[in-house]
Amino acid sequence: MATMAPPMQPRRPTRQVNIGNERTGIVRIGGDAPVVVQTMTTGYTHAVDDCVTEINRLAAAGAQLVRVAVPERKDTEALAEIIKQTTVPIVADVHFHFKRALEAVEAGVHKIRLNPGNISDRDQVNAVIDACRDAGLPIRVGVNEGSIVERKDKQKRLRELGRFFSEHKQGHLIALMITRLEEYMDIFDARDFQDVVISAKSMDAAMVIDVYTEISKRFDYPLHLGVTHAGPRETGSIRSVVALGTLLANGIGDTIRISYAGDAADEVVDGLELLYCLGRRTRIGAELIACPTCGRIQVDLFTLVQDVRRKLADEIQLPLKVAVMGCVVNGPGEAEGADVAVFAGDRRGIIYVQGKRVANVPEAEILDRLLQECRLFQDRVRSGDATLGDK
Ligand code: SF4
Repeated sequence: MATMAPPMQPRRPTRQVNIGNERTGIVRIGGDAPVVVQTMTTGYTHAVDDCVTEINRLAAAGAQLVRVAVPERKDTEALAEIIKQTTVPIVADVHFHFKRALEAVEAGVHKIRLNPGNISDRDQVNAVIDACRDAGLPIRVGVNEGSIVERKDKQKRLRELGRFFSEHKQGHLIALMITRLEEYMDIFDARDFQDVVISAKSMDAAMVIDVYTEISKRFDYPLHLGVTHAGPRETGSIRSVVALGTLLANGIGDTIRISYAGDAADEVVDGLELLYCLGRRTRIGAELIACPTCGRIQVDLFTLVQDVRRKLADEIQLPLKVAVMGCVVNGPGEAEGADVAVFAGDRRGIIYVQGKRVANVPEAEILDRLLQECRLFQDRVRSGDATLGDK
């Protein structure tokens, strides 16, 4: 008997943490807050001007939190000036040296990330917890597959965790990540500190799905989803969307970071689109529908689609559905389902607004006329004369 795919699951209930202040605005993660998109800078934090430029560019792309690496003292020394010149909450990414966390808190950072794989001394962790509590800052406990050290009692813990872990091809790694989190969270529990977000990343998409699914059963902290070292956008996007999309559809995940070996702004753009597609965020800006083209194509659609995409991003803030179709086969159907649409025929573009034909223009004029209709329609929606999606 054929089995049906399960429907989208409601969000898993979690605690909520708040990040930021009056100046940056408060970003809420977990609970009833929409899923948050975050990213990380690619340059040196101590290069203040470049770092500020990158952070502001990422915030403009839609990043709600931006993480920066602080491997050296000169990086934490730069934080105060960076925070002064940016308006998005900043997360200090701390590895190996717990003092970097203390320095970052002192500098006014808005959240700390610790890696249990390389800061495990209880007194050091307690010092960071106490500093964050005093400053009102949350901590992300971020386990990475790559920085997990094999435990000697692995087999015993595997048996304790049960059949799933014993039979899973990477069950021992999943078990290690969970046990490391359990041990680490004991330190936080003993300190009565619950202002925590958890992550457990791997470069293996299937493993990310499994480990977060298991973690979601064991902790009620908000979860930060990510596939680490996902590679360049061309392949990393598939890897990330498979893992994060599956988890989000299952109701798991409160903030996401897609990571690419490339421009971090692409991580933000793709993360937002993933959330829009799954209905986990209310869309800001137009939704573009375009045909893939085929031998019936009537205009240079690839160029037109890219031009339309760029212009819509600049000029349209409301979630208009805009369709760009190459010929009459599917064009009229999509045109009727969109707020503004064009379908090509005989090197011309026939433009529709909510199912009504409004223009028939030569190919060279399609872009300008389509954008003009989008702007006019957006104005009508804003003034209450039209409603999105009203056919
Ligand atoms: S809309 Fe026309 S050109 Fe585009 S893919 Fe469909 S049949 Fe081909």
